[in-house]
Amino acid sequence: MNAATMQEFEELRGECVVCTKCPLSETRRNVVFGEGNPESPLMIVGEGPGETEDKTGRPFVGRAGALLDEALAACKIGRQHVFICNVVKCRACIIENGSIRNRPPSIPEIAACTPWLEKQIELIKPAVILSLGAPSAKFIIKKDFRMTQERGIVFPTRYARFAVAALHPAYILRQAGQPFEEGKAMLVADIETARKQVIEAKKAPKLSLF
Ligand code: URA
Repeated sequence: MNAATMQEFEELRGECVVCTKCPLSETRRNVVFGEGNPESPLMIVGEGPGETEDKTGRPFVGRAGALLDEALAACKIGRQHVFICNVVKCRACIIENGSIRNRPPSIPEIAACTPWLEKQIELIKPAVILSLGAPSAKFIIKKDFRMTQERGIVFPTRYARFAVAALHPAYILRQAGQPFEEGKAMLVADIETARKQVIEAKKAPKLSLF
């Protein structure tokens, strides 16, 4: 990233954190723009912020984030090595029986947020995108992506040379015993696949079509 692109990236951040393009802006505490190294060849894209992310303005800092950090560390990757963000930048939630709980972002909310993610990708130009969870994979890889059958497979995409999807850490946390251990092992394996694709992309660099 040259100085002008870096400045454009910081301007994008400035505009994104005050976005009011959808009703999520009325209930959020913070916009979660994303963090890490904007010059990284590996971009990690989750679904959307949860409670802790909304509170802190940082991606993947709750329990799912701790599991993601553990899996990244198993592949010798630190947060400083990647850029982590989400398809949707604000927390989607509903109030039920007096308590607030997360819900999946709606199609119009995703559509309203899409220009932020697309601009981030355009400026970062990652060689590889790792999608965490089906909503991210459906956005980055293909609309009919099926996590059980297609996680860990390397796809070419319009957003990056390669994309790989992994189980969302929050989904893995909802498992117990052996399914939990298996889910964690799959997450590590899929991160490792993404890491190896970065090496492949470096061997034969080609500009992203996007
Ligand atoms: N889940 C996500 O998809 N993103 C976050 O930032 C946190 C939890």
